[in-house]
Amino acid sequence: MKIPFNQPFTTGHEFKYIQQAISNGILSGNGKFTKQCQKWLENYSGCHKALLTHSCTAALEMAAILADIQPGDEVIMPSYTFVSTANAFVLRGGIPVFVDIRPDTLNIDETKIEAAITPKTKAIVPVHYAGVPCEMDTIMAIAKRHNLWVIEDAAQGIMSTYKGKPLGSFGHLAALSFHETKNIICGEGGALLVNYPAWSDRAEVIWEKGTNRTQYFKGQVDKYTWVDIGSSYLPSEINAAFLWAQMEQAETITEKRLRVWQTYHESLTYLELAKKIRRPVVPSSCRHNAHMYYILVRDLQTRISVIDQLKEYKINTVFHYVPLHNSPAGKKYARSFKTLSNTEELSERLLRLPLWLGIEDEHIKNIVEKLEFLC
Ligand SMILES: *Cc1c(COP(=O)(O)O)cnc(C)c1O
Repeated sequence: MKIPFNQPFTTGHEFKYIQQAISNGILSGNGKFTKQCQKWLENYSGCHKALLTHSCTAALEMAAILADIQPGDEVIMPSYTFVSTANAFVLRGGIPVFVDIRPDTLNIDETKIEAAITPKTKAIVPVHYAGVPCEMDTIMAIAKRHNLWVIEDAAQGIMSTYKGKPLGSFGHLAALSFHETKNIICGEGGALLVNYPAWSDRAEVIWEKGTNRTQYFKGQVDKYTWVDIGSSYLPSEINAAFLWAQMEQAETITEKRLRVWQTYHESLTYLELAKKIRRPVVPSSCRHNAHMYYILVRDLQTRISVIDQLKEYKINTVFHYVPLHNSPAGKKYARSFKTLSNTEELSERLLRLPLWLGIEDEHIKNIVEKLEFLC
């Protein structure tokens, strides 16, 4: 029984909407489907403005421009994250300052943030790992005390809530991803959520290559010209049409993913009780979106051998991330705040299991049986 790690899910309406986009006669960005998706995101999160982008990476780059990150400015974030979280700020000359993660959720340890703040600190970037929310009340309070911007990396966080409020609605800005490995997808795609109203207009300018094109189309200015820095951050209408088919079913997709997640979670109870693995922890104030099912195995050696042996059974499992502070670019462009011992240890023990819509209970049973003698 061959079990891939991921299989992109489609709702069946993608082609229909792409065809409509073609009939609409606009295939570049900011057409009907783009606007529809942005409206959906504004309703979903209550943000002041949502802008679709061609990736979460692009949304983070826009955030770094909006937060006016200057050379030498420090940005607090976890080292246990995808490269784009750091790269977006390094591109503006910013210096990522890595703070260790919590052993339970693997999110940034909010109790260690305040000590890492210096006069150069400009922003905090919490990453909602596996779609499990960071401790946003504490993080927002720290930011307020020290006058810092908060930019949520909510790449994995769509449809998750913290104390009843959706992820992406806490920070001044938030970035989402619709990459095919995420929950709601369009191949490559993302969005910037602007919660800080004063930044909405500038966000549109940066999005439109530094021009006032959006204002021009709204009839707010009579000339369309270069007014600020920016880049081409819009996705095409073809991507937006695909994305719309997914947004329509965001609730169902999340429920179905949660069911798969729960099946893993229950089936792996015994292995945890036997102290062979540790299962994910979701704080009671949070609703997660089942973005990922991971386990923590005993050590690095165990992980290597489990991945190899599962491969023999045609079961594909993966690990991530190489902590950024140990990467060549991380060493060059960033620094760590004190020791990152949880990051070091947990990143070596983490193993991600296949989770996609359409995976059957039979598959999961098979994987769990193998893990029972491999771990
Ligand atoms: C996937 C991911 C990104 C990048 O998303 P893209 O849409 O591929 O650019 C950034 N941060 C985190 C935490 C991610 O998981």
